[in-house]
Amino acid sequence: MGRTRGELRLEGLLSVMAITKRDYYEVLSVQRTASGQEISRAYRKLAIKYHPDSNRDDEDAIVKFKEAAEAYEVLSDEQKRARYDQHGHAGIEGRQSGFQDVGDIFEAFGDIFGGTVFEDFFGGRSRSRVRRGADVRCDVTLDLEEAAAGTQTKVALTRHEECEPCGGTGAAPGSQPQVCGRCRGQGQVVQSTGILRVQTACPQCRGSGKVITTPCRDCDGTGAQPREVVLEVSIPAGVDDGMRVRLSGEGQASPDGGPPGDAYCFIQVRKHKIFRREGSDLILQVPLSYSQAVLGTEIGIPTLVGKRSLRIPEGTQSGEVFPLRGYGMPDPRNGVKGDLLVQTFIEIPKKVGKPQEELLRKLAELEEEHVTPQRQSFIDRVFHYFRAEDQEQEADK
Ligand SMILES: [Zn+2]
Ligand SMILES: [Zn+2]
Repeated sequence: MGRTRGELRLEGLLSVMAITKRDYYEVLSVQRTASGQEISRAYRKLAIKYHPDSNRDDEDAIVKFKEAAEAYEVLSDEQKRARYDQHGHAGIEGRQSGFQDVGDIFEAFGDIFGGTVFEDFFGGRSRSRVRRGADVRCDVTLDLEEAAAGTQTKVALTRHEECEPCGGTGAAPGSQPQVCGRCRGQGQVVQSTGILRVQTACPQCRGSGKVITTPCRDCDGTGAQPREVVLEVSIPAGVDDGMRVRLSGEGQASPDGGPPGDAYCFIQVRKHKIFRREGSDLILQVPLSYSQAVLGTEIGIPTLVGKRSLRIPEGTQSGEVFPLRGYGMPDPRNGVKGDLLVQTFIEIPKKVGKPQEELLRKLAELEEEHVTPQRQSFIDRVFHYFRAEDQEQEADK
């Protein structure tokens, strides 16, 4: 088989790197006269120290882990060690397996770890990763009153659960999933391309290590079936439109024995007939008659917890806001309640009875003589505006 240009270039690069390689005895911190046992012990110590499981995402540890494995590969082999002692790195160049993947190292030296704390990792040999199940969504619609007080409710959702007839294996009842022939149950295959050794998920079993020869008819060999479940949800007081409540572990089952996903309940709060919500405050618009606004009064105000009375002082303007402290919505994080903001507006009757009309006409006559302060200043402004315009026209002439 001919080599590609890329492979040749990589090989050249590796021999350049060999010049800067550390001495293998130094790597393992052993004497040049060390026995095979001492070398094994030294390697084992380093492999545990730089083990990828306890050094996640630590590039330096992975480099050290590989370096130790390479040194061990040479010094634990009598022939290679002799050549190395005589000619250094050049003596064993091209005779090493060249670990490209941490997985290769486990495959080569896993045996020396038998019986250690890493037995499951080295000894088990099936290193396919388990995936978490997917999350599912459900929806809950609440009245404002329910959102304010918090509530206990039920939601229905459909999720995949273990198929009963096959017990989740996917194999037809009475049959068993077979060990994958391609990877011999390891879930991973090592492919050699020139000098590179690449480890990938087995294409035959897609990493599971098992193949189903007779699929279960109820689940088509997937091991799971959709099922509708009803869950009890506890909604905290104060939730708002668009918030979501997490039901931990109530999502889809993992496809390969890992933890399940979560269920997320999306909250929708129905529009209220009289209250408008703004954060943790509620806004209520209350009509006042002209005479109530002028003379002041006491009115009944609906709140989420019953009627309360509010004093409207004399001379109240349209649009004025009176807060009722603590009658708003609770903050779902800390329970602190907002306010109920009562906003007044003056309601003008479309039609009035005879006696009212007579009184209003009398009032109008009186107002002609005694205009109210705001009205007076408005009239003044209009008057000045026209006078200024007249003066400008005079100047133009
Ligand atoms: Zn396989
Ligand atoms: Zn099934």
